[in-house]
Amino acid sequence: MTQMMAGATHWRAAGTSGRSLAAPRAPPRAPLPPPPRAAPDGGAAAAPAARPLQRGEQEQQRQQQQQRTSLVPETLETMESDDELQAALAALAAKGQAALTREERRARQRSLDGLGVPSFARVCADRGVAPLVRGQARILQLNTGLYCNQACTHCHVESSPKRTEAMDAATAGRCLELLAAAPGVHTLDLTGGAPELTPQFRRLVSEARALRPELTIIDRCNLTVLLEPGQEDLAAFLAAHRVRVVASLPCYSQSNVDGQRGAGVFDRSIAGLRALNAAGYGAEGSGLALDLVYNPGGAFLAPSREKLEPAYKQELSEAYGITFNSLLCLNNMPIKRFADWLLRRDALEAYMQALLDAFNPAAGSGLMCRDTVSVAWDGRVFDCDFNQQLDIPAAAGSSRAAAAAGSAAAAAGEGAGPSGGGGGGGRGRGFSVFEVSSLDDLTGRPIAVDNHCFGCTAGSGSGCQGATA
Ligand code: SF4
Ligand code: SF4
Repeated sequence: MTQMMAGATHWRAAGTSGRSLAAPRAPPRAPLPPPPRAAPDGGAAAAPAARPLQRGEQEQQRQQQQQRTSLVPETLETMESDDELQAALAALAAKGQAALTREERRARQRSLDGLGVPSFARVCADRGVAPLVRGQARILQLNTGLYCNQACTHCHVESSPKRTEAMDAATAGRCLELLAAAPGVHTLDLTGGAPELTPQFRRLVSEARALRPELTIIDRCNLTVLLEPGQEDLAAFLAAHRVRVVASLPCYSQSNVDGQRGAGVFDRSIAGLRALNAAGYGAEGSGLALDLVYNPGGAFLAPSREKLEPAYKQELSEAYGITFNSLLCLNNMPIKRFADWLLRRDALEAYMQALLDAFNPAAGSGLMCRDTVSVAWDGRVFDCDFNQQLDIPAAAGSSRAAAAAGSAAAAAGEGAGPSGGGGGGGRGRGFSVFEVSSLDDLTGRPIAVDNHCFGCTAGSGSGCQGATA
């Protein structure tokens, strides 16, 4: 699942692109009630007088019932009644994904122009940020597919139960080959959608663990997936393979979580956390790390971890008996659903201003794209998950030539990547995992930055692994 960042709209209708997942499993049917017993007088037996349930018991019963069924029907219902989403779907059908992404980029650029900002690369150069060039790959992040049982208002991947794109076996196999040949990579980071609901997830985890016992394997988990039918053994599977769980929980209040992630998500997230705790996650000395991710519920920046983590720990422990290791505080990236959310409220320029005001050169020097290789479900290679969703591929070509081009562009105050200071088109098709001989091929290449990148450099910095400053 994706944990970052924010809300708006370019949904692809199911099956419009990509390889299809098997149809999502239907929620199990409620068991049929037993037939009424014949009463001595030929009528139905009178039921024994039921004791009225106390309030707590009713709540428990409601939660138990809820947890026996999939969240998907509820998510689809919410999507149907979401006017903004329906408007976005209509725009998508009329214009297509590429045109909407270009429009979104132009809107960000207009905001920056209004603020007198030349480009992300120029600001970095002026503020003493280290050159925007890739170092050695340390993290391999795979988006295993876009299907999700949720459809959060802030999702930058625009996942939902309607998405069907998923990594195939050949692409997963190639990623494992590249991982095996890259001893410098210390982390395999699996994301989605809900990665656990994609066909290659358990294979990737099992084979990567067998390959590299010391590897950190991350599952970006939305928590509610633990309650989906067929995932009853998920917590045990993750624990057995020593997977680090990084889970979204943007607040410890039910109304905030449900508002951002959908009705019923908070209760299910708490149940998911309890299942992880029961499997040993979050317990001191267990070696099973459970980290939570906070992202803001509106057009403001994330507070520091130091400020928020103690409150999270106290609230979750006191109210629900839940323990976890660390809280990652991430900013919302002004792309996709969140960009749309901002635009509809005429708040994009104010948000870009807030990101600029909080520009932190140290965060720029720690950008995740410096050492992360991001691979899409179809095997294409990107500098980060955000560029993946914006279809901005990593720079192709020889490392030396690309680095030289990047340095020249940065010196000119333009983007180091193909988008430059005014891209949005002409980025080329990029390349796939089948077209690189090693992840080291990317070392030294310029990073494909663009006007959304200010989301990574605000405050303490924001990346998939947390703060970057
Ligand atoms: S819709 Fe799914 S992938 Fe997107 S943010 Fe929500 S849980 Fe994560
Ligand atoms: S959005 Fe830009 S700055 Fe952030 S990780 Fe991606 S390429 Fe780097």
